[in-house]
Order: sequence, then structure tokens, then C-alpha cells
Amino acid sequence: MTHSLVTGANRGLGLEFVRQLLARGERVIATCRQPERAAELTRLSGDYPGHLTVMPLALPDPRAIAALMRDIEALDSPVGCLINNAGMLVPDERYGSIEANALQDSFAANAQGPFLLTQALAPRLSNGARVLNISSGLASIAGATSLFSPSYSISKAALNMATKLTSIALADRSIVVIALSPGWVSTDMGGANASLTPTQSITAMLRVIDGLRIADSGRFLAHTGEPIDW
Ligand code: NDP
Repeated sequence: MTHSLVTGANRGLGLEFVRQLLARGERVIATCRQPERAAELTRLSGDYPGHLTVMPLALPDPRAIAALMRDIEALDSPVGCLINNAGMLVPDERYGSIEANALQDSFAANAQGPFLLTQALAPRLSNGARVLNISSGLASIAGATSLFSPSYSISKAALNMATKLTSIALADRSIVVIALSPGWVSTDMGGANASLTPTQSITAMLRVIDGLRIADSGRFLAHTGEPIDW
């Protein structure tokens, strides 16, 4: 049986991905920066014995990625679904005072991390696997109409290019790689006024993921399954 791997799984959308994948009987590797503080994942491990493995991962640290690869190798089971969910948003950015660190940290977490993790994991992905890069409507260059969160938007647009290139790299193994926007969701990042709950967003995204075909690889889709203009 293959595993699904979810990054940034200790809270928000990542945690809800884990909950719903476990509820439908899947085996899940959940990564987070501080497993010892991930109380909800620890509880879920008890609820689903043998189905949930929690592993540390801080992105894009190459040593952390290498250590994760060793842990996954020890599981001796391919990964059938990689959900590059971990991401960050620098709040309250204003054009004119955007800092280099904000751009660097955003690129590192939102683009470099998922790209390097997928590259490292590629040998352990099963043929026909799914790779979901959790992007954002704010990554759409065609849809950009405001200056909201430049560091975030620029880094997620880079993630979209990473998605396209990874889809080309893994095409000969029928691995489907897409950029997937979750909608505006009430998490720490999305805030309380968001239009979707994590349950609604993840239910919708899993429906999209389940319906993916090889022809979808390299596309940028919304949680509804509709294409988003690059
Ligand atoms: P949260 O801020 O609630 O959670 C973010 C998660 O990512 C946390 O687990 C966090 O870990 C982890 N993370 C952040 N940076 C790193 C890093 N460098 N290395 C490893 N883990 C990291 O966000 P959401 O759950 O809302 O977002 C999940 C994904 O969905 C993100 O990629 C986000 O950009 C995207 N998204 C969300 C939207 C929304 O409305 N919520 C809209 C569009 C896209 P820790 O707890 O240690 O900080």
C-alpha cells in the first residue's frame, strides 16, 4: 500500500488533509517542523494506529530533506500522493517597504522547499503518483489586480513554474503534478473572515485530486477543479 505525504501538517489545511485522508483509510506521512509540539497529530496517531507516521521537516533545509528521505526509505513503501502544503505569508506588506528577508523567506518556504522536496522524493514516488503543489489565486499573473502580499504572490508564482517543470520531469512515469489553489480558507493564514472552512476546502480538493488524469499534469486548478489563468 502506498502512503500519502502531507507537509505542514500540524495545523490549518495540512492537518485537515491528514484528518480526511485517515478517515478514508489511507496511510499518511505527516511532516511538521516540531513533531513534539504537534498535539493534534499525536492524538490522530492514537486514533489510527499504524496509519499515521509523523516526521520532522523544516523546508527547504537540505539536511532535513535528506533525513526525511532516510525515514521514508525505512518505511519501505512508495509515496502515491505528495501534498506540498507547507507555506508562509508575511503579513501587512506595503510596497515601498518590502524587505529582502521577506522575499527570501517566502521563496524558500513556498517555492524552493516544495521543488527540492519533490526532486528528492521522486525516486520513491510510485508510477502514476500525484503531486499537489498548494498554490494560491494570488500566484496568478493574469489575475493580479492589487498589491496584496507581494512576497507571497511572487513566491507562489515561482511555485507554479516549479510545478510545470516538475510535471515535465516526471511525465515519463505518468506522475501528475499540478498547482492547486485551496480557495480562501479560515486558517491562521486565511483569517476568520474567509469564505471556506478547512473541511469544505479539503473535501473539494480531494475530489479534484481523485479525478486527476495524466492530461491534467502541469495545470493550475482551483479547489472547484476549474482552471486558473497563469
Ligand atoms: P497556516 O499558516 O495555517 O499553516 C501553515 C503550515 O505551513 C504550518 O504547518 C507551518 O508550520 C508550515 N510551514 C510554514 N513554513 C514552513 C517551513 N519553512 N517549513 C516547514 N513547514 C512550514 O496556513 P494554511 O493552512 O492556511 O495554508 C496551507 C497552504 O495553503 C499554504 O501553502 C498556503 O499558502 C496555501 N493557501 C492558503 C490559503 C488560505 O486562505 N488559508 C489561500 C491560498 C493558499 P508551523 O506551524 O511550524 O509554523
